Amino acid sequence: MLKQLLTKLINELLLGAHVSISGSIDLSVDRALQLSCTTFQIFTRNPRGWKASKLRKNEVELFRDKRKKAGINVVVAHMPYLPNIASPNKNSWQLSLKSLIDELKRCDLLGIEYLVTHIGSHLGKGIDVGISQVAKAVDTSVEKASPKCVLLLENMAGQKNSVGSRFEDIKRILDKISHIDKVGICLDTCHLYAAGYDVKSKEGINNTLNDFDSLIGLKNLKVVHLNDSAGDLGSRLDRHEHIGLGRIGKEGFRNFINHKFIRDLPMIIETPEDEKGDYSMDLSILRSLYKT
Ligand code: ZN
Ligand code: MN
Ligand code: MN
Repeated sequence: MLKQLLTKLINELLLGAHVSISGSIDLSVDRALQLSCTTFQIFTRNPRGWKASKLRKNEVELFRDKRKKAGINVVVAHMPYLPNIASPNKNSWQLSLKSLIDELKRCDLLGIEYLVTHIGSHLGKGIDVGISQVAKAVDTSVEKASPKCVLLLENMAGQKNSVGSRFEDIKRILDKISHIDKVGICLDTCHLYAAGYDVKSKEGINNTLNDFDSLIGLKNLKVVHLNDSAGDLGSRLDRHEHIGLGRIGKEGFRNFINHKFIRDLPMIIETPEDEKGDYSMDLSILRSLYKT
C-alpha cells in the first residue's frame, strides 16, 4: 500500500498492458501486478466470438476486490473483434449494437472506467454513412445501458473503408452524438503513425496533438495505446511492433510519452508477445524513457 501511494506521489506514470483474463477475470489483476502495471486493459470475454458467457458473481467480486487492494484507479476494457458499429448493414449493425450494450453493462458490473471501441468500417458505403452509423450506435447504447462507464472511440489506422483515422472524421462523429458526456477518445500511436500522423519527431507530435486539441479538444482524450508501428508513416497498416523496434522508435516514444498533453494519461501497450520480446521488455523500455 505504502509503496503504491509513494509511486503515485512521486511518479505519476500510469502505464500498463492489455492482459489476459484466462482462467478467471480476476486473474487479470494478478497478471497486471506481476508486470508492475499501474493501469491495465482487458477483454471482458473471449474477443473472437459474438457470444459472451455470463460473468460469475464470485469472479466479479474478486476482480473488484483485487484491483481496489492494488490501488489501480483506471481499468480499461476493449470491445471484442467482430462488432462493427460503423456497419451500413442492418443485421450486423444490430448485432454490433447489442454487443456494445452488453459490454457497457459488463464494464459497470466490473467497475471498469472505460470501454474502448474501434470506430469501424463503412464496408464501401462511404464515410458519411459510417459516421452516422457510429453516432447512432453510440447514442442508442448509452440510452439502453445508462452506463457509468465511459465509451472511448479509438482512432483507426486508415485501412480500406475505415472510419475515424482522421481527426476531422472523429470530430464529425462527436458532433452527431447527443450523449457526449459518456464519450471520449483513445489514441493509438501505431494507428496514428499508419494514418499519416507523425508521432515520432517533437515537431510532428506537437502538430498532431495541437491538431487534435483544436478539432476535438484535449479534455476528450482519456487513454493512449502505446504501440510501435511495423508499417511506415501513412502506410495504413495496423501492425503493432515492440516499443523501439518499429518505425516510431525509442526516441519517438521518449518524445511522445513525455509530452505535456500525454504524460499524465493512462497508457496501455498492446504489443506482440513473440520471439523478439514480451510485455515486460516493452514496459521497462517505456519506464526508462519517462522523465520523472
Ligand atoms: Zn483497439
Ligand atoms: Mn489500440
Ligand atoms: Mn491496432
